[in-house]
Amino acid sequence: MSSAIYPGSFDPVTYGHFDIIQRAAKAFEHLTVSVLNNKVKSPLFSVEERVRMLEEVCKDIPNVTIDSFSGLLADYARKKHTDVIIRGLRAITDFEYELQMAQTNRKLVDHVDTVFLTTSLEYAYLSSTTVKEVAAFGGDITQFVPPCVAKKIYAKFQQREP
Ligand code: ADP
Repeated sequence: MSSAIYPGSFDPVTYGHFDIIQRAAKAFEHLTVSVLNNKVKSPLFSVEERVRMLEEVCKDIPNVTIDSFSGLLADYARKKHTDVIIRGLRAITDFEYELQMAQTNRKLVDHVDTVFLTTSLEYAYLSSTTVKEVAAFGGDITQFVPPCVAKKIYAKFQQREP
């Protein structure tokens, strides 16, 4: 097991994502964190902005590369010659969807396995959506996201940092 892909929306990256990135980077020789360009969702940040934030946040982890992709994750994994997909599991509510995705991806590419890392308890409640909601109402998000990300979110909402 030498390399893995951690796909997601990362709109934006939170400390919950970062915790998974750090732990996956320890378990694999190389980790590609890849931003999904999902045309269906309407994200707060462009793919380029999300990639840049991830690059900044992960700059001290030498075996992590940031990338982006569109289309099927299974096709992307095949293109990257990677057999392992990393996903984070927060609660039982994540499980049904994640199980379905993992099994679908395995049907599409039979050598691809999904490895689930359970969230650290202190981040179990955390989601990008919650962070954006708190920021939209001027709340303090500094305990949820790295400082460089908090700045970008506040700038989007044109609010002052508390
Ligand atoms: P999605 O790909 O579902 O749009 P995200 O970008 O929010 O979602 O998340 C990417 C991956 O990170 C998913 O596997 C998700 O379960 C996981 N994740 C998100 N927030 C956390 C957290 N607080 N702790 C652990 N894993 C998380």
